This record gives sequence, structure tokens and C-alpha cells, in this order.
Amino acid sequence: MSHEPNRIAHPGRLRTLGAVAIAVAFTGVAAPAGVAPAAVTASCANGYVGLTFDDGPTGSTTTLLNALRANGLRATMFNIGQKVQQNPGLAQSQQAAGMWVGNHSWTHPHLTQLSSAQIQSEISQTQNAIRSATGASPRLFRPPYGETNATVRGIEAQFGLTEVLWDVDSQDWNGASTAQIVQAAGRLTNGQVILMHDGCNEAMGWDRSHSVEATDLILTQWKQQQGMEFVTVPEMIEATGFEVP
Ligand SMILES: [Zn+2]
Repeated sequence: MSHEPNRIAHPGRLRTLGAVAIAVAFTGVAAPAGVAPAAVTASCANGYVGLTFDDGPTGSTTTLLNALRANGLRATMFNIGQKVQQNPGLAQSQQAAGMWVGNHSWTHPHLTQLSSAQIQSEISQTQNAIRSATGASPRLFRPPYGETNATVRGIEAQFGLTEVLWDVDSQDWNGASTAQIVQAAGRLTNGQVILMHDGCNEAMGWDRSHSVEATDLILTQWKQQQGMEFVTVPEMIEATGFEVP
């Protein structure tokens, strides 16, 4: 329950769509040649990366949102449905802060070990809880532990969900220090997505407090050391022509 895999396996196209959909975009830094989508305009031609925070909402969500807002950034929060039901106000705060709110199942199970009916229930209950808290149905889904297969993807599709995995694992779930998480974020290249977690999940027995701490440093580092500027997700989506399904 406490471990997520070090998994970097997913189709390039899906990864790209996911990254665009959840992009934290920036300008002013050199990007690898040929990586930026062709349709991107000059305003964000230099690159974008996706920050994702799983397993919320938690007691750390407000701190996390404050750090992101202070830096004018949007990230994607992949929420656990039962935690949304317990804290609908926090899910609402995520949306109000301009975050993309995604579905991360109801109980964080190993979906590939469940029946189709159980998978449907995990996804459906979470869609309902998030819709009732925020007024909007999630369009993005991240399977717990990154474990997916054709059955899981087929059911995601029934709910109009796009699956988003990750390229860089911050290892915050595995006891990484704040400095190590910042270092992991430094490995991100254009169009990539990093896996992080929303703070302490005492109820789940998980301690990811370093990730929330690291977020402020990561954002400061990106701005100061690399001179990046940030554009919003809607601007990036407009620039790339990508529409959330
Ligand atoms: Zn998770």
C-alpha cells in the first residue's frame, strides 16, 4: 500500500497529451531541439513540464496550494475519492486555485487485480465525489501504483478519462529528502511529468511531507536558476491545439 513503482512506461502520445493537459509551462530556458510540439507558439515554445501530486486531499493540501499559487503555477492533483468525500472543501480549494483535479480511484487498490465491476466502481464513485465537490467531472485518471492494463484503460475510456502516468518519480513516497526531490525535479525535460504526493497521509500510514516542502524550492529554483517564466494551462492548450476529451 505504501509503495508506488518506479515506473516510466507509457506511450509517447499519451504522455504528451497528458503533459499538455496538465502542463506547467515556462519560457526562457533552452529546450532539446525538436521536442516542443510543432503548433506551440513563441510564448511557450521553449518547454513545459507537468507537476502532479497524488493521494490528496490531505492536511497538507492548503500549504501546497499556497506554494503553487504564490508562484503562479498550476499542477494536477490526482485525488483519492474517499478522501474527497471526507474533505470536499479541499477539493473545491484545489479547483479554485486553478489546479486540474484528476481521479486516482476510490480506495487506492491494485486495479489490475480487481474485477471489471470493481474497477468501474472505484472510478465511478470518485468521479461522483469530485463532481459533487467541484462541480466538474475529472478528465484525467492516474491508476494507483501506475498499474494499468487493457481492462483498466477500457473502463477509463467509458468515463471519458485520459490516463496519465509519469516520466520522473520524485521517490517522495520512498523517503526521499527534500534535496533529493528537488534534484529529481531538476531531471525533468520538456514535456515530461513528475510524480509527487500531497503531504502526509496519516490515515494511509504514508509520510510525504518532504514533497510539500520541496515544492516551494523546486519552483524557486526553476525561476531563479533557469530564468523561467510560466504560462497557464489554458494558454498552453490553446497554443498546442490540444483539447481535453
Ligand atoms: Zn497514489
